Amino acid sequence: MNLIYDYLDTELEESIKPKFRVKQIYNWLYKKYVNNFDEMKNLPKNLKEELKDKFEIDNIKIADIQEASDGTKKYLFKLSDGHTIETVLLKMKEKVIDKDGKVLSGEKFTVCISSQVGCKVGCSFCFTAKGGFIRNLSAGEIVYQILAIKRDNNIVENKSVNIVYMGMGEPLDNFDNLVKSIKIFTNLDGLAIAPRRQTISTSGLSSKIEKLGKLNLGVNIAISLHAVDDELREELIPMNRAYNIKSIIDAIKKYPIDERKRVMFEYLIIKDVNDDLASAKKLVKLLNGIKAKVNLIYFNPHEGSIYQRPTNKKVNEFQEFLHNRGLLCTIRESKGIDIDAACGQLREKELKEKRLFT
Ligand code: SAH
Ligand code: SF4
Repeated sequence: MNLIYDYLDTELEESIKPKFRVKQIYNWLYKKYVNNFDEMKNLPKNLKEELKDKFEIDNIKIADIQEASDGTKKYLFKLSDGHTIETVLLKMKEKVIDKDGKVLSGEKFTVCISSQVGCKVGCSFCFTAKGGFIRNLSAGEIVYQILAIKRDNNIVENKSVNIVYMGMGEPLDNFDNLVKSIKIFTNLDGLAIAPRRQTISTSGLSSKIEKLGKLNLGVNIAISLHAVDDELREELIPMNRAYNIKSIIDAIKKYPIDERKRVMFEYLIIKDVNDDLASAKKLVKLLNGIKAKVNLIYFNPHEGSIYQRPTNKKVNEFQEFLHNRGLLCTIRESKGIDIDAACGQLREKELKEKRLFT
């Protein structure tokens, strides 16, 4: 049986009549976070029974939650077939309250979601890659991550969150379900998360970047670049053999970018591998003419990895170099360091523990 979250409203309308019932169902699911058909009070009894016969609504469970001292929370979800995925809730801004208790500005949340169990791309620095590829997530399994986190943290219905597809998996390698999840997130009768609040991070499947661009969904794109020449990039991201740097840049030049936005280029800095200023210089040249911003990420070491975290000095020098040449550049705060928030690590820990007991 399929998850009810797998369906666009237009798809549900094909089997649920009259149409306004679908709007009511969407409201219960995505605004009231109800995970039981019996609680959908304004639906007739026979429709509730029909829904129970046709759809699953509650077959994904929270298997573990870890909270870091900075408020970052990492969720491990158990899917209906027993596989696990990770989702991370990041608190970007705290609530500001004046002395009389009046809320001056609310907190801001970003949720980092997974798109696959494992990943095919096989990057040499990535923890997710170590377990290989298991399967794609369905659109509903992607959508459910946001829903469960909003519910679990009492994030009210009209409080929007930002979504980054930066958890486990390569979103563009699960193209159809990715597109469907974006449409479900955006639906005004549902979560109503504006496309400009959604960012798709990709290791650079150029043909799919073009395909996504042509759909004009309004979502942001982030490219995990990490290297400025193909030789090193192939070492880090084997898929670069099929989709080299030039093909990615060409695809990005065609991607429709919101006027107020820029394309984000993620650059994972690894000690003595790509932290030199000659690379920074090449990066400036490569991004010339693109409305770009660069996000420098400290490599987060994990058990068995051959790479090391760069020094603060090197990262700051790299940033300064880009900045001085007019390239917008931020350094990604290492949130949730004390809970290994780099995706894949909590899942790996769980798998290991399971192995110990079986
Ligand atoms: N597959 C997509 C999205 C998921 S990976 C992609 O590669 O873009 C999301 C981000 O996590 C990528 O930018 C990746 O480079 C980064 N990442 C992976 N392993 C990491 C590690 N050990 N330390 C820091 N960042 C890491
Ligand atoms: Fe896959 Fe992204 Fe990890 Fe590379 S970094 S293996 S593309 S999840």
